[in-house]
Amino acid sequence: MKTGKTQGYVLTFRCINCGKHEVFAQYPSEGIEAEARIRARIYQVTCNSCGWCGDACGLSAICVSRTAELKARAAGQGPGL
Ligand SMILES: [Zn+2]
Repeated sequence: MKTGKTQGYVLTFRCINCGKHEVFAQYPSEGIEAEARIRARIYQVTCNSCGWCGDACGLSAICVSRTAELKARAAGQGPGL
């Protein structure tokens, strides 16, 4: 049965074009993954600010955070305070 929610990790990158921290990548995972393993991958990313897109290595991510609700457009909607 599906829960309707996808667990995983969100990686935040600094945009190499505009310099803003508006570049996000997702790593879907139902369990706990070692951060080193997540960072070892290459992600296809798009900047929410300037629209730049390209590849980013997880090693250059500013932040890796776990989320219980991965969404296709999780980034750019704000923290929802
Ligand atoms: Zn940008």
